[in-house]
Amino acid sequence: GKGKATGHFVLIPLMAQGHMIPMVDIARLLAARGVLTSLITTPLNAARFTRSVEEAQASGLPIRLVELPFPCREAGLPEGCESLDTLPSKELIINFFKATAMLRPTVDEYLSNLEIPASCIISDMGLPWTGSTAKKLGIPRLIFHGTCCFSLLCVLMVRKSEVYESVATDHEPFAVPGIPHRIEVTRVQLPSNFAMKSSMKGLSDEILESEAAASGVVVNSFNDLERGYTELYEDAIGKKVWTIGPTFQSNKSVPHSRKREQDLGDEDLCLGWLDERAPRSVVYVSFGSLARFSFEQLVGIGLGLEASNYPFIWVIRAANVTAQMEEWLTGGFEERTKGRSLIIRGWAPQVLILSHPSIGGFMTHCGWNSTLEGINAGIPMITWPMFADQFLNEKLVVEMAQVGVGVGVKSPSVWQDEKPGASVTKEEVQSAVERLMDQGEEGEARRNRARDLRERAKSAMEKGGSSYTNLTLLIEEMTNYSS
Ligand code: UDP
Repeated sequence: GKGKATGHFVLIPLMAQGHMIPMVDIARLLAARGVLTSLITTPLNAARFTRSVEEAQASGLPIRLVELPFPCREAGLPEGCESLDTLPSKELIINFFKATAMLRPTVDEYLSNLEIPASCIISDMGLPWTGSTAKKLGIPRLIFHGTCCFSLLCVLMVRKSEVYESVATDHEPFAVPGIPHRIEVTRVQLPSNFAMKSSMKGLSDEILESEAAASGVVVNSFNDLERGYTELYEDAIGKKVWTIGPTFQSNKSVPHSRKREQDLGDEDLCLGWLDERAPRSVVYVSFGSLARFSFEQLVGIGLGLEASNYPFIWVIRAANVTAQMEEWLTGGFEERTKGRSLIIRGWAPQVLILSHPSIGGFMTHCGWNSTLEGINAGIPMITWPMFADQFLNEKLVVEMAQVGVGVGVKSPSVWQDEKPGASVTKEEVQSAVERLMDQGEEGEARRNRARDLRERAKSAMEKGGSSYTNLTLLIEEMTNYSS
């Protein structure tokens, strides 16, 4: 009954930055409500978060990181490759998921021997075996989807209908059936687990099966952003959907709650540089932790930014900083854009940057975390989707919320380093930046809508707000279940 207010939540994130970051934030949110929260991951993934978890522990929160060895060698992965963002090639994705499934006996044993038994498991949709674990141990499992209800429902509606097979080609647009807005997509713009012929079919079937058996779904989003899609998705799957985001507002001061190990290096540099710039003048350009670009495409981005004449921070992830790229940057580009460009090689303190008043626009790949971070900062966005749910997230940003400008991408490009060339031209980059940063009526209206959404995001997380209340209800329901 109600007397048992505490409980023990066990969180098992998928090992990839975009899935770990929100789960660690959820863990902190739960712990801040007095719920004992254990995060299960592997040593190298844990190392990315030990600092923030230790900070939370120091302030008295009942949160812990549990490290289990990752079977790299057994699964045919290079030693030390414990996260999707460190995979050297896409052929190894299947090995990576194999390795995650090999964690199961260790996880089962750990969960069977807990001194405080788990009241529920919240685990990533990409770890379907955690559903079998939960079932075996008689614990409810909630699924964490690293995306929004809108994209989840679109995928579900297409899957349920005949429309996917009815179009003649992968590039022919069709309207997503059964939803209240007219949203057109093509086959290639849908998440790749649609490609039923692929080597991932086994995994994708398992994911669907384990979704059907789950007790509910946790989504890092808020209802005002979803425009009715939370309830529609809930109805469609016939189970409870808890929107509890944006989760990274968990601490009072947004910037510091997001300090992570990876952030620390460039933090002072970025903020100091931004302090010198005019309010809302800077474009922040980043494509998340997984996207790969060809050299030609990177050059196209650089030249477009240069031609736009706005100051910019451009994050180029380590995998994209090849010797050729480095030579191009230092052999003229940085010199020509001196005083208005800051190039971050590797990992940027993204949430800190986005919350700085000098930022006026965000060029993003529409990864769900980045999208939500842009919305939470009240910044209009240039959308450049690349894979997975990103084309659908783009629709939410550009067509529904109308806080973005599309750069004009039509098909996926995640491992673009394998095929040289550029899908987006310098001119397209330049014109998207100019449209977004424009001081005219259209730009102002977009900025106002973005600011309005920011306020709604904040309200959702405040006491009495929709996400705050959903978390309360989630905790109540899960702790009652086990007693
Ligand atoms: N991120 C960051 N610095 C970087 C790149 C990414 O802090 O240089 C964070 C970003 O703030 C977001 C996450 O990593 O929280 C990326 O998740 P997203 O869903 O946007 O994209 P993915 O990396 O999964 O494609």
